[in-house]
Amino acid sequence: MTFKFTQGPEIGKATNILKGMMGAKEILDTKVGQDYLEKVRLWALEKSATAQRVLKTIDRFPHPVYVVVMKGGFTCFDNEPGPGGVIYMDVDIDLSVRPGGARGVYGEFQKQHPYITFLHECGHAVQNIETPLQFENSAKGPRFALTSAIMDAARKYGERNFGSRPYSERRGWFAPNGSVTGQPWSVRLEYDNIYRHERPICLEAGEPIRDHYCDIRQG
Ligand SMILES: [Zn+2]
Repeated sequence: MTFKFTQGPEIGKATNILKGMMGAKEILDTKVGQDYLEKVRLWALEKSATAQRVLKTIDRFPHPVYVVVMKGGFTCFDNEPGPGGVIYMDVDIDLSVRPGGARGVYGEFQKQHPYITFLHECGHAVQNIETPLQFENSAKGPRFALTSAIMDAARKYGERNFGSRPYSERRGWFAPNGSVTGQPWSVRLEYDNIYRHERPICLEAGEPIRDHYCDIRQG
């Protein structure tokens, strides 16, 4: 069924409301989205077998994965409405990432190709296609849906980000305050996606790899 571009109505949202929700300057039309995707596909063909596999998984899924292309706004994946979910993509996104070095020594921030970000969101769509349980119950999916390496990475991420206090103590605070990236379910989803999709794509394409999830910034 592949990607299906929408300005909102197909996912139950009026364009203007969607624009406000996502903080986008503009919701772009289908033709812009198609041109953008075509460029991503050509890039993937040239650069990355993993990116090709990610796109193919979405192409073969018997339901649409919706895409909202935006100028500005919050790039992300939402598994609602199911079963395919929605990718929200700021096509003007401009990001740098910081690769890690030996013994925790960081490199400098380096520009990362913006298609990596789009493919990251596609990676979430693939997670949702392959293991929708990971997104169930507000994405607090069960641990068995993840490998032990990913559980490990999630724990390390938590300890490093909130080093002054045990992560278990912080969880209680983060849940009601609505933080996304600080919650364990989100950490697990992100690392599963990063390990299985984003990192291999970066390696194959010769793009810099963020060390941990937060080693990324605008500009
Ligand atoms: Zn993500």
